[in-house]
Amino acid sequence: MTMEHGEDCCVKVAVHVRPLIGDEKLQGCKDCVAVVPGKPQVQIGSHSFTFDHVYGSTGTPSAAMFDQCVAPLVDGLFQGYNATVLAYGQTGSGKTYTMGTACKEGSHIGIIPRAMAALFDKIESLKNQVEFQIRISFIEILKEEVRDLLDPSAATVGKIENGNGHAKLSVPGKPPVQIREASNGVITLAGSTEVHVSTQKEMTACLEQGSLSRATGSTNMNNQSSRSHAIFTITLEQMRKSEPIMTADGMPIEEINEDYLCAKLHLVDLAGSERAKRTGSDGLRFKEGVHINRGLLALGNVISALGDEKKRKEGAHVPYRDSKLTRLLQDSLGGNSKTVMIACISPADINAEETLNTLKYANRAR
Ligand code: ADP
Ligand code: MG
Repeated sequence: MTMEHGEDCCVKVAVHVRPLIGDEKLQGCKDCVAVVPGKPQVQIGSHSFTFDHVYGSTGTPSAAMFDQCVAPLVDGLFQGYNATVLAYGQTGSGKTYTMGTACKEGSHIGIIPRAMAALFDKIESLKNQVEFQIRISFIEILKEEVRDLLDPSAATVGKIENGNGHAKLSVPGKPPVQIREASNGVITLAGSTEVHVSTQKEMTACLEQGSLSRATGSTNMNNQSSRSHAIFTITLEQMRKSEPIMTADGMPIEEINEDYLCAKLHLVDLAGSERAKRTGSDGLRFKEGVHINRGLLALGNVISALGDEKKRKEGAHVPYRDSKLTRLLQDSLGGNSKTVMIACISPADINAEETLNTLKYANRAR
């Protein structure tokens, strides 16, 4: 059974197969995922899937992955295109490792730090013609509630406990973060911290602070980070200063004319996909179940609707409003924006069922 992945789709899909890790080796797990040499194809059992890119478990593919999947999105920001990178997969499949959200992976450099470096390289090369402003937000969506990971007062959140020994979600008295849609379709967050940064070091500090806040909040919460979506957003504002038009005797006849562009890049470490059980063997729509994560279900349906060219041309409904995740990403998924989904999988035979689910989910994104 071969499933081809369309060439001209608006969502690019890559698969990242991590190597067997220590725990799996100790349990005697076997590698059950094969990457077809020279092809973006993975095989598991009798199933074969073709994607835009497949990164195998050998070598250090993170530089190639960045160059092929994410660098074009960073470039697009400078043309004013919004973009989204999504890391999807079961808990333990390598989402955080791939994104570099946790900052502490030894010598491995994930996508977020690479995106930062590429962004500042480009800014450096353009800074004579263009004035830049960069803002960072870092939020988490847990049980359809948006939590600000850069909230200066959030450092205490993990220590506040209720009667069940569970940490409370938000600081008492602080209004929850609201997702707003302006009349021009631009999505903004009301009530979340936006940090203005001008160096890569400052941006990295935001990543570290937010990752720490996410980890702190999770200590008493039954592995919260596997249930929540973490969204690191870089907003780039540009004022292009065009050359003033001169008169014959060399006098400028126009004030400096400024072209304004604003675009954002969302880097998303999604909740563990083991929460997205679907019913029905070939059901095209995910249905509610016990361990449901509404964001993952809605995301699957949105991406599937965007990828269905026939439906798209007919102006079919894209169900953005079904979850906080898809509402927040609404202006950065589909339309002119660029989206890359990186499906992370474990090669271990004990994970074969979840791996197959992940590949099927990723395969719908066309
Ligand atoms: P997730 O965020 O999906 O739950 P993690 O990123 O935390 O998964 O990865 C789980 C474990 O596997 C971590 O110990 C991580 O260091 C390791 N790991 C993930 N991807 C790779 C990889 N490509 N190479 C080596 N180790 C990896
Ligand atoms: Mg993780």
